[in-house]
Amino acid sequence: LRQQDGMLADLPAVTQDGRTVQLAANIGGPADMAAALKQGCEGVGLFRSEFLFMGREHPPDEEEQFNAYRRVIEQCGDKPCIIRTMDIGGDKPLPYLHIGKEDNPFLGLRAIRVSLAEPALFLTQLKAILRAGVYGRAAVMLPMVISEGEIRRARQYLGQAGAELEQQGKAYAPAVELGIMIETPAAAVMASELAGECDFFSIGTNDLVQYTLAVDRGNTAVSGLYSHFHPAVLRLIDGVIKAAHARNVWVGMCGEMAGDPLAAPLLTAMGIDELSMSAPLIPRVKAVIRQLKLSDATAVLTRALSQNDPQAVQSLLTDFLAGSR
Ligand code: PEP
Ligand code: MG
Repeated sequence: LRQQDGMLADLPAVTQDGRTVQLAANIGGPADMAAALKQGCEGVGLFRSEFLFMGREHPPDEEEQFNAYRRVIEQCGDKPCIIRTMDIGGDKPLPYLHIGKEDNPFLGLRAIRVSLAEPALFLTQLKAILRAGVYGRAAVMLPMVISEGEIRRARQYLGQAGAELEQQGKAYAPAVELGIMIETPAAAVMASELAGECDFFSIGTNDLVQYTLAVDRGNTAVSGLYSHFHPAVLRLIDGVIKAAHARNVWVGMCGEMAGDPLAAPLLTAMGIDELSMSAPLIPRVKAVIRQLKLSDATAVLTRALSQNDPQAVQSLLTDFLAGSR
């Protein structure tokens, strides 16, 4: 099996009938890149930049961030590297942010909301990313978006970051793509409009499931209710991919669902462009996609979308994968 895995790392995730899905890695920093490249990742689909900001008394300055982003981007070579701007607040509080106690931190000041409320912090991060972009293919991704206005404001800051670098005579990448995470029900429902404001989407199922089902992703008392196979979630995802493609916007996925081999037939049939996951999950997902026939996957997707509960979807998929082995 080990030998097979070695060979698999060099092969594309392509179905028997020629549909290719890019398989990318979720990383927390430069140290994760070696393992991701070893598994044959075709880029970084999610660089959780907030790890740079956590466990310290002061935020990292532009230079420190630039160095971290550059090290990742350089290791990506000609592959894309999607850097998510700091997703802090919620379950990831910081001592230097003074957000204050919130009754519902997951519904509070987190992610893009923090960035827009702290322009100096946001501009520093954007400048570091633009500078690192000189060394490869960087893209900026915004977490927790719910409206077009947030994307427009972020784009203005991106322009300002470029203008400041220009003035300072620092080298930077002028045309870095700007994308958003689709991880709120609002963003999923408004996907068509949001697609008009950005270059790509990545579906964050960890939060999308929690917010769609109103089930805290970390609460074991309700974990039995938490499932990315809930038909409401599947229908939202299907709608997002259709809306994005209708506007020629590329769609990836970077939540846990992307690394679930059972989900791979559904997501491939929906037309997902990229699946980004923690590196050790890449071989299993790739193996499933490589044995798929798109017509069979499409048939199972149609059936999955008409189910009433997650368990029914899950057993449908388990039977499907057992049968196609
Ligand atoms: C997600 O919500 O699916 C996601 C990838 O982001 P995080 O898990 O960091 O919230
Ligand atoms: Mg999230």
